[in-house]
Amino acid sequence: MKLRKVTAASAAVFALALTATACGGGDSGDSGSSSGGGDKIKIGIKYDQPGLGLKEPDGSFSGFDVDVATYVAKELGYEPNQIEWVETKSADRENALSRGDVKLIAATYSITDERKEKVDFAGPYLLAHQDLLVAADSDISEATDLNDKKLCSVTGSTSAQNVKEDFAPDAQLSQRGGYSECLSALQNGQVDALTTDDSILAGYAAQDQYKGKFKLAGLKLSNENYGVGVKKGDTETVNKVNDALEKMVSDGSWQKAVEENFGPANYKNEPAPKIGQIVQ
Ligand code: GLU
Repeated sequence: MKLRKVTAASAAVFALALTATACGGGDSGDSGSSSGGGDKIKIGIKYDQPGLGLKEPDGSFSGFDVDVATYVAKELGYEPNQIEWVETKSADRENALSRGDVKLIAATYSITDERKEKVDFAGPYLLAHQDLLVAADSDISEATDLNDKKLCSVTGSTSAQNVKEDFAPDAQLSQRGGYSECLSALQNGQVDALTTDDSILAGYAAQDQYKGKFKLAGLKLSNENYGVGVKKGDTETVNKVNDALEKMVSDGSWQKAVEENFGPANYKNEPAPKIGQIVQ
């Protein structure tokens, strides 16, 4: 009798586990399902970009990329508590996807032809523009002002590449691992400007400790079409993520996330992009 009870209980647990797998995004996926049980999804984000991807002091995560990824994960069948956030710095993103460390990346990740040789992208889900962050009293106002100046950007970013190849080839470019390191360098006077997407810079400028210290130059130096990075060849996931992004816009969640995350920094974002349409 006792034994039968145990068996019945085990059967119930087994049935539950099956249900959980069925609705828990139980794609046989390698990269996403961390434990092999299919009950978790690993998603790459930035940890040091307020308004986009930020690890808060209490260990929680906030930002537009976090909200986009959370929405997408839900559409793929994963509840927020099934998401395992992984820090993916700019230079690590392609490798993190190829190695299968993460299933998705939502980390201010611009869609470029060069990157598309190594990874696939869903989206775009946001259009940003490269800009400069300088001291409030700086007279740098144009990209050409940078040419004999010290400039900081991040290794593996389009921002650093654009400076070198395009608008300030003679600037003394210092490349760091993350933008928060550039921000410290700017604060200490080690560099004259920090360059990356205006969406990121606006978040820094609005931080309490930096209020009134820095300004954005307001230049639209490039078009940065943010996509969700997916392992090369995983067309099924790209299609699912695209459907989720479309739904996020049409049901108003995209606009809500924009207001919540960019409102405090007074960042004037571009309207929601159309899936598959890259602004060159
Ligand atoms: N969106 C640009 C890029 O993907 C700059 C921001 C970043 O480094 O994440 O390279």
